[in-house]
Amino acid sequence: MTASLPLHALFIDGAHRPSSSGETFDDVDPTTGAVWAKVALASKDDVDRAVSSAKRALKGPWGALSAPARADLLEKIAARIVERSEEFLRAEIADTGKPAGFARAVDIPRGAANFRVFAQVLRTATTETYETPTDDGAGALMYALRQPLGVVGVICPWNLPLLLMTWKVAPALAAGNTVVVKPSEETPATASLLGDVMREVGVPDGVYNVVHGFGPGSAGEFLVEHPDVRAITFTGESRTGAAIMAKASSWVKPVSFELGGKNPALVFADSDFDAAIAGTLRSVFANCGQVCLCSERVYVERPIFDRFVDALAKGARALVAGDPWSSSTTLGPLISETHRQKVLSYYALAKNEGATVVTGGAVKDMSGAFARGAWIEPTIVTGLSDEARTNREEIFGPICHVAPFDDEDEAVRRANDTEYGLCAAVWTQNLSRAHRVARALDVGMAWVNSWYLRDLRTPFGGAKRSGVGREGGVRSLEFYSDVKTVCIKL
Ligand code: NAD
Repeated sequence: MTASLPLHALFIDGAHRPSSSGETFDDVDPTTGAVWAKVALASKDDVDRAVSSAKRALKGPWGALSAPARADLLEKIAARIVERSEEFLRAEIADTGKPAGFARAVDIPRGAANFRVFAQVLRTATTETYETPTDDGAGALMYALRQPLGVVGVICPWNLPLLLMTWKVAPALAAGNTVVVKPSEETPATASLLGDVMREVGVPDGVYNVVHGFGPGSAGEFLVEHPDVRAITFTGESRTGAAIMAKASSWVKPVSFELGGKNPALVFADSDFDAAIAGTLRSVFANCGQVCLCSERVYVERPIFDRFVDALAKGARALVAGDPWSSSTTLGPLISETHRQKVLSYYALAKNEGATVVTGGAVKDMSGAFARGAWIEPTIVTGLSDEARTNREEIFGPICHVAPFDDEDEAVRRANDTEYGLCAAVWTQNLSRAHRVARALDVGMAWVNSWYLRDLRTPFGGAKRSGVGREGGVRSLEFYSDVKTVCIKL
C-alpha cells in the first residue's frame, strides 16, 4: 500500500540515496493524519558518510572558490528556489498543512532571500586591520582573516522548515563551510528538494548533505557527536538545546542556538487600537501559534482591557480553518497529533488553574478529509496570575493569556518575569515610551508597533533561555568562521 508513496531520500555527496539499512519512517500530512510520503532513516553509517563527503568537499573545488564566486552560487540557489517555488510550496504544505497564502508570503520567499542576503553580506563584509607601533619604529600590520570552520551540523525544527534551515545553511556556505543538515522528522521534504537545487546550480558534491531521522539515538545525536563536525547550529526547544550543548561540550564545539520563548506583547492605552488588534492577532495566531516569536502573554493597559479582549476574541473566532489551498483559509492545523495532545493538555491546565476561557479551548471539529487532522481551536484565556504554569511554560500553539496592567513599570516587570527572552511586541504611540520600554525589555528582539518585521542583516537571537549567540548579517559570518589574526612585522 505504501509502495507508491514518494520517498524523501538522504542527500549525500551530491546524490539522493536510500538509507544504508533500507529503513524508513512515515511523513504525515497534519491536515488529514494520512501518511503522504516515506522518509529514509539515516543510520550512523549514513551520517558518517555524509560527514566524510562534507569533509572531502572542503578540499575540493568548493575550497578553491573565491568569496565572490561563492556569492554568485548563493544567488543562483536563490533564483532556482524562486523558479521552483510551487514545488517547494507543495512540499512545505504537505508536511505542515499551513495555509498556502502564508507559505507563499513567508516560508518560500524567505528561503530564497536567505541565500540572496548572505551573498550580499559576503560581498560587502570587511574585517579589521590595525597599524600597530613597534619599539623599532617600523610597525606591524594586524588584520583579521575569516576562514571556514569546516563541516557544520545544522539541526532544524518543523515550524518554518525551509526558512529556518536556509537561515543557517546560507551563511554557513557563504563562509566557505560545508554542511550536514538534519531536518525535523516532521518536515523532511523541502530539505531533500533543496538537494536538487544545489545540484542544478552547480554546487559541488558534498557541500550540502541531508540526513533524515530523529534526535536522541538517531541522526541528530550522531551529528552532534561526530568528531569531524566542527560546530552545531540549532533551532528548537530550549530543553533540546541543553541536551545538545551537553554532548557538544565534550569536544568544546561552538554552538549557535535559537530556542524557545514565552513572548510578551505589551499594549498601551495610547496605542493605535486597530493596529494593535491586527498585530496581536498575527503575533498570537500566525502559523497556528507555531512561530517561536508568537506572543503567548498579552498585557493590556487597564482602560482598554475589556475592549481589547472582546476585539481579539472576535478576530480569533473569525479565523478560518480548512483546506490549505483555499484562499479563505487563515488557520492551519498543529504539526501532529502528538503536538495537539500537548497543546490540549495546556488548554486543560489553564482551565484547572482557574482561567476564564474567552474563546476556544478545545479540539476543532472538522469534517470530511480533514476529520482526522490535528486541528484545534484558537484560544484566548484571562484571569490567571503570572505564576500560573500557563503563563510560564512555552505552549507553542494558538493560545494566549491576556492580563491587565496599570503602569509602564509594572508592564515591563511582568514582561521580563520569565526564564525566556526571545522577543516582545510593544504597542504605543508615545515615542519616548517606545524607546524606554524597548531598552528595558530583556529580549533579543523588541518590536514596536509591528511584529515579525525583519531585516536579515540585523542581529537575531534570544536572551536568557531563548538562545546562545546572535545570527544575522555579519554576525552569522562570525559564527561560521574561524577568525585568525595575522601579524605582519614591517
Ligand atoms: P525540538 O527541539 O523538539 O527539535 C528540533 C530538532 O532537534 C529536530 O530536528 C529534532 O529531531 C532534533 N533533536 C531533538 N533532540 C535532539 C538531540 N538530543 N540531539 C540532536 N538533535 C535533536 O523542536 P521542535 O519541536 O522541532 O520545534 C519547536 C521549538 O523550536 C519551540 O520550542 C520553538 O520555540 C523553537 N523555535 C525557536 C526558534 C528561534 O528562532 N528561536 C525558531 C523556531 C522554533
